[in-house]
Amino acid sequence: MFEPPVQRLVDELARLPGIGRKSAQRLAFHLLNVEEADAKRLGNAIIEMRQQVRLCRRCFNVTAGDECSICADPQRDPTAICVVERAQDISVLERTQEFTGRYHVLGGSISPIAGIGPDQLRIRELVDRIDLEGVKEVIVATNPTVEGDTTALYVARLLKPLGVTVSRLASGLPVGGDLDYADEVTLGRALAGRREL
Ligand SMILES: [Zn+2]
Repeated sequence: MFEPPVQRLVDELARLPGIGRKSAQRLAFHLLNVEEADAKRLGNAIIEMRQQVRLCRRCFNVTAGDECSICADPQRDPTAICVVERAQDISVLERTQEFTGRYHVLGGSISPIAGIGPDQLRIRELVDRIDLEGVKEVIVATNPTVEGDTTALYVARLLKPLGVTVSRLASGLPVGGDLDYADEVTLGRALAGRREL
């Protein structure tokens, strides 16, 4: 439809989440008209992010070092872990300023339909952290979806025999949505009003 170099970029942009065909075309033609230095900066930002960012060896948050800034912070309470599906959920929860412990990123949720079982998630690694870090409380902040609830119950059943208090975010979150659809006031209340599983 377009000249091959333009079409290649349109195709790549259209593969991004939330970007439709029309938006991809608009972005591609926008980039065609910006200063070359601006376009280069965008390209480099993508390449450098991929080269420099890896996963925290403790919680699997994204980090530029060995451990993420939250795990490395001596002010954080090591006895409390908040379990999330994705690394980007951490920033949403951090904005509430309600939680002072560390996190654990599962990498998704249990979904038989999508063929994702507990073994595909970092649940084993979570269990290992309980003893290793002297964890006493685990708050499961998976998404308020069927998959998120299933995952929360699975984690609770696994951890409770280890003497850990396992709780889930209180209701009030938009059901079926992602955590980042919630505003920080609602999410802060959900954290404060968490109930034991
Ligand atoms: Zn970490």
